[in-house]
Amino acid sequence: MDNCIFCKIAKKEIPCTTVYEDDKMIAFLDISQITKGHTLIIPKKHVENVYEIDEETIAYLYSKVPQLAKAITKAFNAKGMNVVNNNGTNAGQTVFHYHIHLVPRYDENDGLRMIFTSNMDKYSKDDLEQIASNIREQL
Ligand code: AMP
Ligand code: ZN
Repeated sequence: MDNCIFCKIAKKEIPCTTVYEDDKMIAFLDISQITKGHTLIIPKKHVENVYEIDEETIAYLYSKVPQLAKAITKAFNAKGMNVVNNNGTNAGQTVFHYHIHLVPRYDENDGLRMIFTSNMDKYSKDDLEQIASNIREQL
């Protein structure tokens, strides 16, 4: 797709620092290196986000996650790993070509902050059942 920076990387029109590549995907270092070893996995074909990607492509990308996560962890003696995928501007997506972030973790002040607020006290068992029912209706 024209003007997509990750398509340009896939087509070798702009450089990247490759960790792994095959005919369907590339894993390369994120230029921002939130933490040391921060890697992106992209499909070579252009798909914008989780709403557009087909099951086969996403399954293939995730099939490589364990091996890459273990390699990054071993390379830098990381203490954990966040596997993150942002979809849509409101979710923090800035490059609109599907990608998975592998962010190795070293300690709580290593650069990545993810805050999961608990609203447990605001939802009853019935509320949860209603929410699940709303989602099930859309499956
Ligand atoms: P997101 O905010 O989830 O869309 O993530 C986009 C990521 O792409 C950011 O972490 C950027 O640092 C990274 N990025 C943007 N341009 C490049 C590039 N040319 N090479 C490597 N990483 C890039
Ligand atoms: Zn693209």
